[in-house]
Amino acid sequence: MVSSGSKEMLRSLPAVDEILRQEAMRDAVENYPRTLVVRAIRNVLDRNRQAIIKGEIALEPEELDQATLVQEILEELEHLASFTLRRVVNGTGIIVHTNLGRSLLCQDALDRLQLIGSGYSNLEYDLAAGKRGSRYVHAEAILCEITGAEGALVVNNNAGAVVLVLNTLAQGREVVVSRGQLVEIGGSFRIPDIMARSGARLREVGCTNRTHPNDYEAAIGPETALLLDVHASNYQIIGFTAEVGLRELVELGRRHKVPVMQDLGSGCFVDVTRFGLQGEPLVQDSVRSGVDVITFSGDKLLGGTQAGIILARKELIAELRRNPLTRALRVDKLTLTALEATLRLYRDEDAAIQAIPTLKMIATDLKTLEDRAQGLVEALKVNIPESIGVQIMDGSSMVGGGALPVQKLPTKLVAISSKEMSAARLEVRFRGYLTPVIGRVEQELFLLDVRTLQPGDEEIITAAAISVSR
Ligand SMILES: *Cc1c(COP(=O)(O)O)cnc(C)c1O
Repeated sequence: MVSSGSKEMLRSLPAVDEILRQEAMRDAVENYPRTLVVRAIRNVLDRNRQAIIKGEIALEPEELDQATLVQEILEELEHLASFTLRRVVNGTGIIVHTNLGRSLLCQDALDRLQLIGSGYSNLEYDLAAGKRGSRYVHAEAILCEITGAEGALVVNNNAGAVVLVLNTLAQGREVVVSRGQLVEIGGSFRIPDIMARSGARLREVGCTNRTHPNDYEAAIGPETALLLDVHASNYQIIGFTAEVGLRELVELGRRHKVPVMQDLGSGCFVDVTRFGLQGEPLVQDSVRSGVDVITFSGDKLLGGTQAGIILARKELIAELRRNPLTRALRVDKLTLTALEATLRLYRDEDAAIQAIPTLKMIATDLKTLEDRAQGLVEALKVNIPESIGVQIMDGSSMVGGGALPVQKLPTKLVAISSKEMSAARLEVRFRGYLTPVIGRVEQELFLLDVRTLQPGDEEIITAAAISVSR
């Protein structure tokens, strides 16, 4: 039941035209498309109408304040007009942060995107022959050069690469996987589900903590299409454990004439033990092991754009290309452009570490981080009121993106606290800033890890802090 007071309230809500005629709306109509302004007005009127009906607004009609309504409309308009995909400051210290866009592109990739994106290109045109060519040749040469593989194919992402390979090699047949490797990667990618969708049948072997060669051997039969090794990207099984090594698996596959696939996940090309990180397999080593197919992501440790990269022998790559699914998983020209530019940097490992942001952030030493934290603290101190406290603390960063799950890189944190609001409130305010600043709350402090900050972020954080303290 809508009360009579509410009915009166509803009637007193102004009409769209009436609002549009108001002085305060004139600027809005000049600066934004009229359709957007009208939509903002409608949204706000609808919201108010619903609130009145639900009894959430129980004012006298004459109390309905036009100025408040207009203010609400202008805020709604700003919200509607803003981009949904926005730049943010990553203060989490997680380098390959899946929720914050994973890898940042290197300058070479950005330059090539500008060039190729703003003009026509030979995406599917064979310049030597003067006729139709294939988009898949573009990243193949450089991938083979760096990894030593015979052939390569790039698709939309690694999940797609896994589906494509399983579907091509094992549809309607069995794929043998260790129970210790039936991983879930970030919610929507689970090996058993992906297997089912690709049309292959999962044949689990071994136990969660231990799988032996004879477990595989016992499972191999006429139905076996593939042995699959999945890199345990985001967890580690420790204690009484055993997995069959890749070389041993390859040898087993050879003996039984069954191909072997490895889903590497991260796709690391440089030895990261020099930065104190252990145990991330190198793509080049996997190729050398003789495994038949390797898949990995383009935007994890590789540090490029989202892509699924498949390495295999030429005949197998040709077979994959013929699968209609390849068309459905087709890689975009912008992806190929950024990927080729990133991959070329790996010709010189030291240059790659300097130029590829993901690697550079891993390689940043503690002294540099200390200086960066110091710089940020000084910038904050001269700009913000005394009610806001800042200090430098020790902490640890993570590689993220399902790589090197339990290893931490020592880092420096800038801890922010306020006499006037809780750390949780600070976090909300920083996150709500024009350029959102994402950090974490621990022990009543809002923490920003300087390892994942980019050039220019210091100014943004300072401006955000000023805005927060107002
Ligand atoms: C991340 C990951 C995937 C999925 O890769 P995307 O590029 O995100 O599609 C698949 N397998 C493993 C082992 C992974 O770590």
